[in-house]
Amino acid sequence: MTFIRENYDLQTLNTLAIKANSRYFSQINNINELIEIIKFAKNNDLQILILGGGSNLIFSKDWEGITLLNSIKGIEVINENEKEVELKVGSGENWHNFVLYTLDNNFFGLENLALIPGTVGAGPVQNIGAYGCEIKDFIIKVEVLDLEDKQIKTFDNKDCNFSYRKSIFQNYGKYFITQVYFKLSKLENNVLSYPALITYFQNINMDLSIVTPKDICEAVIEIRSLKLPDYKNIPNVGSFFKNPIISNEHFLKLKDFFPNLVAFKNENNWKIAAGWLIDQCGFKGFKDNGISTYDKNALVIINIESKTGKEILNFAKIIQDKVKEIFDINLEIEPRII
Ligand SMILES: Cc1cc2nc3c(=O)[nH]c(=O)nc-3n(C[C@H](O)[C@H](O)[C@H](O)COP(=O)(O)OP(=O)(O)OC[C@H]3O[C@@H](n4cnc5c(N)ncnc54)[C@H](O)[C@@H]3O)c2cc1C
Repeated sequence: MTFIRENYDLQTLNTLAIKANSRYFSQINNINELIEIIKFAKNNDLQILILGGGSNLIFSKDWEGITLLNSIKGIEVINENEKEVELKVGSGENWHNFVLYTLDNNFFGLENLALIPGTVGAGPVQNIGAYGCEIKDFIIKVEVLDLEDKQIKTFDNKDCNFSYRKSIFQNYGKYFITQVYFKLSKLENNVLSYPALITYFQNINMDLSIVTPKDICEAVIEIRSLKLPDYKNIPNVGSFFKNPIISNEHFLKLKDFFPNLVAFKNENNWKIAAGWLIDQCGFKGFKDNGISTYDKNALVIINIESKTGKEILNFAKIIQDKVKEIFDINLEIEPRII
């Protein structure tokens, strides 16, 4: 039996703490409840919004359809040998708790992705990434319920079309991710390419050759806690903009004017550090109309005075316009705008 609430306030369910109402709301604990609710949505011609931890959403208006809060739980080892383990994970599990569970069991790979807010099921949606790793490198397949034909389907990793902050699951309203299947290693295989991680271990005089995955997890937690505000006290959605990708030609022009430009080479183009661009425009700690950028990290926008999504987007536009004017770069907003 599923309960459906009307006119539900989503303010405590999104990490930017934007006040927004959902016409209908229900919490989903399993597939049967999901199928029941989809029937209700179809019969009442309601659009479906899938909600995890609400850490990658900006409500610019109320949701006139039904919001489904995902609480599908469960972590199961489905296969293992001496070297590897395969896990089936309910999409409503908390991501960071799952990362800690893997390390407690000596399953390695996800340590660089510690402390990312939200649910396991939202991870594949934007192919979450941090500190030199992306979730796509550990996913075997993703199980979904197709919201149109109500059939359970699975997408192998290659069919998810993962790339930087992208996947086919951004075709919103089509699939509800129900389970994610991971392959993790039982052997330590550290990724220590990210400069901030290297500096962290150098600062504590720890030789990189003796660093363990648990050390990496602790380092990531510590670095993130210094760089990112805790959304429970300071509402935010983490990185507000994606790191823009520009052509080689554009990069060379900019590098002439800005020798300190922070950029990472891709195959045929360059990924530019959005935080650096915003910083150069003088926006670190910039405040306007009860909204500001975080003083320790200009890429993070914080909603200090409980402003609306529209006001936050207006604030972001000031930053986007300036970055366009100075660098001829369009900053794309990372979270989904409702
Ligand atoms: C402080 C902070 C730090 C962050 N750091 C990072 C970071 O380092 N790297 C990074 O990649 N992201 C980061 N994020 C963004 C965010 O945490 C991730 O995108 C996360 O995966 C969102 O999870 P969620 O459950 O909160 O998703 P929600 O915000 O609830 O939803 C996000 C989108 O996914 C859809 N969705 C959610 N669950 C499902 C499902 N089961 N099936 C289908 N669609 C679904 C929603 O409809 C929505 O469109 C950060 C956010 C914050 C607040």
